[in-house]
Amino acid sequence: MHIKNIFSNKKPIISFEVFPPHKDYSIDSIYKTIDELAPLNPDYISVTYGAGGNSVGKNKTVEIASIIKNKYDIEALAHLTCIGSTKYEVNEVLKALNENNINNVLALRGDLPQDPSFKFPSRLHFRYAVDLIGEIKKQGDFCIGAACYPEGHIECESFNKDIKNLRKKVDSGADFLISQLFFDNNFFYNFRGKANAEGIKVPIQVGIMPVINSRQIRRIASLCGAHIPEKFEKIVDKYIDKSEALKDAGIAYATEQIIDLLSSGVDGIHIYTMNNPEVAKRIVSNIFSIVKALNSSIAV
Ligand code: FAD
Repeated sequence: MHIKNIFSNKKPIISFEVFPPHKDYSIDSIYKTIDELAPLNPDYISVTYGAGGNSVGKNKTVEIASIIKNKYDIEALAHLTCIGSTKYEVNEVLKALNENNINNVLALRGDLPQDPSFKFPSRLHFRYAVDLIGEIKKQGDFCIGAACYPEGHIECESFNKDIKNLRKKVDSGADFLISQLFFDNNFFYNFRGKANAEGIKVPIQVGIMPVINSRQIRRIASLCGAHIPEKFEKIVDKYIDKSEALKDAGIAYATEQIIDLLSSGVDGIHIYTMNNPEVAKRIVSNIFSIVKALNSSIAV
């Protein structure tokens, strides 16, 4: 099923993100994770593609998405990045997705190389995610998601310009959006208002990352530059070397964020599970009655 159709029938929708295991870990570890996520009845599960320089992920994304869809009968969303890929390589992945009955793709540019002297080559088939969206549209009956940034994308010179670029992705065929993580919901409400004013009407799902260890905090700060509110900083400072306490506090913080977002009418929540089913289970349990109440109030 196309994810856009799930959005049409349900609000909010709840989904999870997983990533292919690092090459030092067995592929079986991800199947164990999915085994534990499946009974939580997510509306879909997404699988990242080579995120964080994980080149193993590129080979395994289709395989894992296929297991989610064809063994567990859960809708799968395959991430696909385009920077540094040829048209042939992208089309090979799309062909494999088609063959495995996966018809939802999150179209992404991917992160640029860390080298500060990096310059885009003059001839490049895919420079931005919008170029990939155009290609996916040509290659089959895919439902296409794209990324959005409530605090603005880290490279963009202005927030307003970033929103205008987002509009181009929607105009090119993005059916829904998933947000970058954030820790202060006010950024999201401001972004949603600006996006709506720019004429962006597709569903916007909120990406939430429960922070449960100190390694994650360092990565977040360096990768996406999310603003860390004082309230959150206090938690991190207090429990940084007390892993169980940090986990409890991180889950509580994410739960509070989600309840506020759900009460403000968001289209859906996408939980960055970090392949940790316990965290997903605890959050789903915390919001269970709220999601049920919201879904039962939709007139069918
Ligand atoms: P784009 O939409 O192309 O935007 C990139 C920058 O270019 C922005 O600053 C934008 O304002 C600007 N821009 C866009 N279009 C134009 C234009 N036409 N003209 C001028 N400027 C333009 N990375 C991975 O490697 N693998 C993953 O699986 C992955 N999953 C992700 C999932 C989510 C939900 C999110 C939010 C991010 C994910 N990322 C992933 C990270 C993503 O690849 C990076 O954030 C990347 O830097 C930007 O990707 P994008 O698709 O948003 O790029």
